[in-house]
Order: sequence, then structure tokens, then C-alpha cells
Amino acid sequence: MKTVTLPDGTELAAIGQGTWNMGDDESRRHDEIQALRTGIDQELQVIDTAEMYGNGRSERLVREAIANRRRNVLLVSKVLPSNASYDDVLAACDRSLERLGTDYLDLYLLHWRGRVPLAETVAAFEQLKGEGKIKRWGVSNFDTDDMEELWNVEDGQNCAINQVLYNLTARGIEYDLIPWQKEKGIPIMAYCPLAQGDRKEILHNAAVRELAKTYDVSVSQIALAWTIQSGHVISIPKAGQAPHVMENAEAANLVLNKEDLAKIDKEFPPPTSKVPLEIV
Ligand code: NDP
Repeated sequence: MKTVTLPDGTELAAIGQGTWNMGDDESRRHDEIQALRTGIDQELQVIDTAEMYGNGRSERLVREAIANRRRNVLLVSKVLPSNASYDDVLAACDRSLERLGTDYLDLYLLHWRGRVPLAETVAAFEQLKGEGKIKRWGVSNFDTDDMEELWNVEDGQNCAINQVLYNLTARGIEYDLIPWQKEKGIPIMAYCPLAQGDRKEILHNAAVRELAKTYDVSVSQIALAWTIQSGHVISIPKAGQAPHVMENAEAANLVLNKEDLAKIDKEFPPPTSKVPLEIV
């Protein structure tokens, strides 16, 4: 299985699980919990949630899914920018821990940049680390200039990951953000790796369909496998059904060769100049 290494040497499966919109619909709850458990059993360690998702409903659902499996999970949650001041980060983290039924997060991210100075949020993250409430911290939706700014803040270089939009139809980060982070040894966590609402463009693409046929896999598996080819990206597809999770886990074993990647480039060209980071 393809893996990605965090700055502290922790090795993780390059596919994890997203949970946005999970827990919102009672009739899907059972399937969603089963899906997440299936993923853990398939050794997809990363589970990504956020205080924002369903106002805590996603975190509560994750609590149920990881019960008795906590040690097999690398649990990620995110603090809203409106809670990014020093005291508010500490309080928001306690609330997330409570909802998740755990006494530590493996990774705590700033969901996106707001008005609070980065130094203040980083100081709170470092405090939480010192207290053992989080193991590491990172950011989300940071473009290259944001990362550079973070790098120059006290302890900013302790950032473990940047979670951003990345899929076949959104490749802008390949121009400068991925190279910048590669040089610094900070992996990317790719959100919406299956392009969420815009999947038709991928699903109906003849070249991708042809590749799926060649490898006897689904179009989604090709799209997902493509996101992790560099070895520097962990993808976190959200799948509310166990069969989808099984497919996604298998995509971590799918290796695309140079010719495959060239075919994909023809259909979904890589950026040739700076593209501002897209945000969902
Ligand atoms: P994704 O690109 O992961 O797409 C999710 C959709 O793909 C769902 O409808 C799901 O259906 C479907 N799907 C999953 N696996 C398969 C498969 N094998 N075959 C066919 N369909 C499949 O979109 P998300 O927006 O959910 O992004 C992933 C995660 O990234 C989020 O859940 C969240 O954790 C994170 N995120 C972070 C953001 C940030 O600002 N930091 C912003 C957006 C997302 P089904 O559920 O029925 O299986």
C-alpha cells in the first residue's frame, strides 16, 4: 500500500477517510459508521473531521465509529478561524475531544485563515501539544504565501501538514505549493480527491474510463490513485458506504505508469503558471 511520511517520521497509508456531511442524516448513520469501521479495518489510519461539520455531528459520529479502535486511527480535527485566538483554540479543542470521546487528537488543523495572527494560533497549538491534548498540528487551505508566512512565525516550522483541495480538475497546487512543501518535507492532505459535485467531468472522460478498463478498476479508483502518485499526498475521500471504502482502499495499491500519467495530463493539463488556491 502506498504510504506518506509525516515530518516526525510517522508513516501513514496514502488514503484516509473524510467525514464531511456524515452524521447529518439519521437514516444513513448506520452505513456511515460501518463505512468508517471498514476503512479502519483496511488500515486506512487517517480519519478527518472538523468542529464545523454538522456543528459537531460528524465528530460525534466518528466517536462511535472509532470506539474500541482508537489506537488504529490517526484522528484529525479542525478549529474554525473564528475560534483561532489563543483561549478559543484551547476551548474548541476541549469541545472536540469531548465530542470525539478521546483525550487526544493526532492532528489539529486551522480550518482556514481568518483574522487572528498566525503566531497566536500556533502558540495555542504548541500549548495543546505540551499538554498532550494534540500530538501535532497543521493548517488547511493555505496557499504558498500563507505557508511562507507561517514558516517565519515562532514554531511555525512545526507544521505537520497542509490540507487543500486537489483532484484531477483542480491541479493548481502542482505549480508552486506542492514543490514548496516537498522541499520543506510537509505532506499535502488532499480534500475532495473525487471532485465531489464536479465528478461528471471525470466520470465521463474517455481517457480515464479507458484506464479504468485497462486496470479493471473503477473511474473513481483511477482518480484517487492519481492523487497519491507523487508519494507526497494523502487523500481523504469521503465514502458513506462500505463498498466505496473497499474500492478506495484498493486504490492505494494501484500504480499508474508514465504513459498512464501522460494520458491523464492530456485530458487534465497540469498548471503552467501560478493558480490561486481554490477553496471549497
Ligand atoms: P470527495 O471528493 O471525497 O467525494 C465524496 C463523494 O464521493 C461522496 O458522494 C461519496 O459517495 C463518493 N465516493 C466516495 N468513494 C467512492 C467510490 N469509490 N466510488 C464512487 N463514489 C465514491 O468529497 P468531500 O467533499 O467529501 O471531500 C473529502 C473530505 O475532505 C471531506 O469529507 C472532508 O473530510 C475533507 N474536506 C476538507 C475541506 C477543508 O476545507 N479542509 C473542504 C472539503 C472537504 P458515498 O458517500 O455515497 O460513498
